[in-house]
Amino acid sequence: MIQIKSSREIELMRQAGQILEATRQEVSKHIKPGITTYQLDQLAENFIRNLGGTPSFKGYNGFPGSLCTSVNEVVVHGIPSKKKVLKAGDIITLDFGVNFKGYHADSATTYPVGEIRDDIKQLLKVTEEALYKGLALAKPGQHVSDISHAIETYVKPYGYGIVEEFTGHGIGHELHEDPYVPNFGKAGLGAVLKPGMTLCVEPMVNLGTKHVKVLRDNWTTITTDRKPSAHFEHMIVITETGYEILTAATKE
Ligand code: MG
Ligand code: MG
Repeated sequence: MIQIKSSREIELMRQAGQILEATRQEVSKHIKPGITTYQLDQLAENFIRNLGGTPSFKGYNGFPGSLCTSVNEVVVHGIPSKKKVLKAGDIITLDFGVNFKGYHADSATTYPVGEIRDDIKQLLKVTEEALYKGLALAKPGQHVSDISHAIETYVKPYGYGIVEEFTGHGIGHELHEDPYVPNFGKAGLGAVLKPGMTLCVEPMVNLGTKHVKVLRDNWTTITTDRKPSAHFEHMIVITETGYEILTAATKE
């Protein structure tokens, strides 16, 4: 069942989103060759806690980090590690959540480390644009799968692989709520969007194949052809006329 959030709940999620965004901005300054994903995780956890939040992912189904740090061919759920040192030419996705007073925010961004190849630059650009193409359909009266279809339609001409095993989702008191928001599919299916629904939209797009596999640590998910993967996510609330991003910096 898809919950409609009260204005109080939406305000708590907005505050969670502001803590998340401030953390994202701080941690992203440290993405440079030579830093470990463990160091990024420590920075994020301390920053979140100092702002009065808790990291949603830490301990979630046993996940050990506050951040998912997914480098290059890692699609999602990369575990922060003292052994994983970033180098120029890598890309890294920071995907993480913040719990503030019982309500979650969740977002993801893929960053270049130093200079990256032009084809990978384009992958990042198209994946981020695909998120906004999907969000353009996020308004009352549209179906959930209209978002999915818009993302797929935008990405397809580039020949990239759209990951099917992981999807966007509802969010609120729980990190993952109904509905699923896939990144592909026919339009006009699924629930009709209503004001007060809170969703995470998050295209995961691979340079090569769409196929992924989970490594033996039971978390790290990689592309089967080991080509890089990008991931952009925002948490939104459906408003009377469209949507508001709850995980972006507030406009001055
Ligand atoms: Mg998510
Ligand atoms: Mg996320």
